[in-house]
Amino acid sequence: MNDDSPTADGEGPRILVTNDDGIQSPGLAALAQAMAPLGRVVVVAPDRERSAAGHALTIHRPLRLHRAADPEGDAAASAGVERWHVDGTPADCVHLAVPRLTGGRPPDLVVSGINRGLNVGDDVTYSGTVAGALEGALLHVPALAFSAEIGAAGQIDWGRCVPFARALAAGVLERGLPAGILLNVNFPAGRPRGVRWTRQGTRRYRATSIERRDPAGRPYFWIDQIDMTPTGESDGDHRAIDEGCVSVTPLHANRTHAATLEALRDWDLSGATDGA
Ligand code: MN
Repeated sequence: MNDDSPTADGEGPRILVTNDDGIQSPGLAALAQAMAPLGRVVVVAPDRERSAAGHALTIHRPLRLHRAADPEGDAAASAGVERWHVDGTPADCVHLAVPRLTGGRPPDLVVSGINRGLNVGDDVTYSGTVAGALEGALLHVPALAFSAEIGAAGQIDWGRCVPFARALAAGVLERGLPAGILLNVNFPAGRPRGVRWTRQGTRRYRATSIERRDPAGRPYFWIDQIDMTPTGESDGDHRAIDEGCVSVTPLHANRTHAATLEALRDWDLSGATDGA
């Protein structure tokens, strides 16, 4: 790590940008570009794609933090955005960056994305994009995760996501979020018809793994998750996307299921500890 990390104060909000598609992703550049007018932006992203890394932290080997070259012709770079890459996960990036690269104090906002592909329903569990934001939320920094639906031609119009990302970030910088909460934002392909406040929906995955043979005849497997049916809560994130709207879902890390906890209180397991 160099000595040129930001230390000066008084430059407005500090915004940490990460993703799970890696430092080269156009979605990351778009998000940095969206944030640049709002304050001092530091990008810290995985050095390669880490999609579906979830919230993994790397604890059994050292991590390296490298200053990234400014991408040629990139608008965010010309706006003075500082860029770093890490040989780790999105959660590693945020964990290392706060407060090391954010001026010795927590940033005012952590944003993650813009992911190539939606993170709705059960995707959230696997998503490195959401985990990058969640790591910020765990550090009690307001956090936003952004993901975009891939269009029919396999393309994403990143520029179309920029104005909304900027407006939402500006709003969160002004209003704040409750401690430990992040907003998970998903953009539909095409021009959005509106914005919906949603809950995390459910959809069933048909978990499949494909078996093939390598040139030596040994089997290898490729995990392939096929999306089955979105089960359509009327206020679910899928539904908003299906109807062409931007979906914004507040999330938190605590997974306790309150109704089941109440139901379990009637189950007397006190005898089960006898002889322990
Ligand atoms: Mn990804």
